[in-house]
Amino acid sequence: MRADHASMAAPPAPQRIALADGRELLYYDDAPGRDRTAVDTRDLPRTATHSELRYDRLQGEWVIVASHRQSRTYKPPAHLCPLCPSTPQAPTEIPAGDYDVAVFENRFPSLAPDAPDPDGHGPTVPTARRAGVGRCEVMCFSSAHTGSLAGQPRERLRTVVGAWADRTAQLSARADVEQVFPFENRGEDIGVTLHHPHGQIYAYPFVTPRLARTLRAAREHHERTGGELFGDLLADEHAAGARMVVAGARWSAFVPAFARWPYELLVLPHRHVPDLAALDAAERDELADLLPRVLGAFDRLFDDPAPYVAGWHQAPVSHSRDAVRLHLQVFSPRRGPDKLKHLAGSESGAGVWINDIAPESAAHHLAEAAG
Ligand SMILES: [Zn+2]
Repeated sequence: MRADHASMAAPPAPQRIALADGRELLYYDDAPGRDRTAVDTRDLPRTATHSELRYDRLQGEWVIVASHRQSRTYKPPAHLCPLCPSTPQAPTEIPAGDYDVAVFENRFPSLAPDAPDPDGHGPTVPTARRAGVGRCEVMCFSSAHTGSLAGQPRERLRTVVGAWADRTAQLSARADVEQVFPFENRGEDIGVTLHHPHGQIYAYPFVTPRLARTLRAAREHHERTGGELFGDLLADEHAAGARMVVAGARWSAFVPAFARWPYELLVLPHRHVPDLAALDAAERDELADLLPRVLGAFDRLFDDPAPYVAGWHQAPVSHSRDAVRLHLQVFSPRRGPDKLKHLAGSESGAGVWINDIAPESAAHHLAEAAG
């Protein structure tokens, strides 16, 4: 059974166009009535996607092989930014001369709806393989080339939250999608290739390994205690107090006692909801108010903004909707003003994390920076 989002609060209706190569672009506006009918004038060939999934027989999980992505745009100069609005002289990925939030299919996707079936092509592979179907989208948070998500005005943050919710609902309805993962990579240290404020959404055709482990932990917790893992974790951190960073009316942010990154936050709604689409209006409003504090804390931890990854973990689309609660994980690999944590032998090789910063100390610093 697919997720039923019909009863949820109505998201803003986006305006939809097709780019020159057929990819879909959606404009989510802060207010209705904007003209977003500008046409993509580029002569753009359709990029062929040869993405495939291969099953890791040792780890029991899928790996995406997407060798066509090597030619993607890499750190262009600001005047060639593909995420800025188009001008008559310089058409970009976004035909409009201005926009609020724009979402479009990635030109160099890791997963694509039309990825071909790999069977019968290429080398013999002694493991299961599947077409790399799914969808990869880019979400621009602002038409301004500089700035950050945390620095956007409240009205824009509400639009971003609404767009995340709407994309989650739309992508969840696709037959080839099992999990929708909106995320933001911020900073060159994370490997960001475009500086324009933007995030991405991956719609995977399988449940990701991290979520599969979370699901297992939630089931084991329920069998052992009868409780619900996320609600119990939240209550435990509220009771302990030392790692709370923001305690709101509908959301809380804390450093988990078992944090693996030097600076890491979990942001949870107080109500059990499976995904962003299921948030009610009051929860969306409070989230829009919370984002500048939570993400802005990473800007203020050090003298210059810390790199971070912020990812929304949502319940699988077609099962376990009661077991997994929506949660945002934000983490930075920076452990000092100019020190980065590198994933070395123990982390990359053995999967055992060593955190050099006590979570209680990280929480103290993040709470000060969150204000
Ligand atoms: Zn730009």
